Amino acid sequence: MVASPEPAVPATPAVPAAPVAPQPAGAPLLVARDVSKRYGGLTALASYDLDLYPGTIHAVIGPNGAGKTTLFNMLSCMVKPTTGSIKLAGEELVGLPGHEVARRGIVRTFQNIRLFGDLPVIDNVMIGVQMRHQPSFWRSMLSTAGFRRQEAAIRTRAGELLDLVGLADRADREAGSLPYGDQRRLEIARALAADPRVLMLDEPNAGMNPSETDALLQLIRRIRTDLGLTIILIAHDIPLVMNLADRIQVLNFGSLIAEGDPATVRANPEVVAAYIGTAKHA
Ligand code: ATP
Repeated sequence: MVASPEPAVPATPAVPAAPVAPQPAGAPLLVARDVSKRYGGLTALASYDLDLYPGTIHAVIGPNGAGKTTLFNMLSCMVKPTTGSIKLAGEELVGLPGHEVARRGIVRTFQNIRLFGDLPVIDNVMIGVQMRHQPSFWRSMLSTAGFRRQEAAIRTRAGELLDLVGLADRADREAGSLPYGDQRRLEIARALAADPRVLMLDEPNAGMNPSETDALLQLIRRIRTDLGLTIILIAHDIPLVMNLADRIQVLNFGSLIAEGDPATVRANPEVVAAYIGTAKHA
């Protein structure tokens, strides 16, 4: 537990530990141990542990203010934990700048969409590819032909990713003119353009209608199977999470109150009391 002079968040009632479902064999790709974040007297996240196994879909759920965004900010090294360790394939990430963590393969989308709204859809994805494959300045200067070849390859890759997320026919539209659900899928294409090992999705279906959400569910499954990615997501939509995730963690007031497969988590009385009973489409 976190050594804090005063508990900054209301204490959660003592309950027996949730039964934890067996984990896949092999080593986890992303491991967090005893990760905490304090803001002054407020503990946003306390003693958090994660074992994220390759090729799995892992969901983090919990009510507003539970610490989910804080957790994502720390896993992507946008925010430094107060305590703890976060390792990708055995290498410590804490202390690295966010862009270095993205280069190593942890790439995220955001709850509030962050696109270049004035640019064409395809350019938004090309920027993502370029961030991964920066052409050397001198090669660009010395070899116009080489630069053009590289740009053509980046455009082709961006087109493939737009195809994957179902936006190939909107490649030349202004990103900001797309409906909300399409913008969310474009954000995913841009994240994939950086060639991640771990894709972090922050409320990927926020603002989507049920049919868009269903298409998103299929897309996330395809990303896992076709691209072999490991996925961790935050979502408030309980049916989406229950249908999609192999494993779920539930946060409440900054503490992990349950972890396991969807059936285990759904049956946990503390989770029902703290969250599922009131969550969207419960
Ligand atoms: P939501 O579902 O509403 O996005 P959340 O589960 O993502 O909520 P967080 O945004 O991580 O929750 O917030 C957890 C707690 O930490 C909240 O009490 C929040 O007010 C607090 N908090 C988050 N960021 C900061 C910050 N930069 N400074 C101070 N307090 C913060």
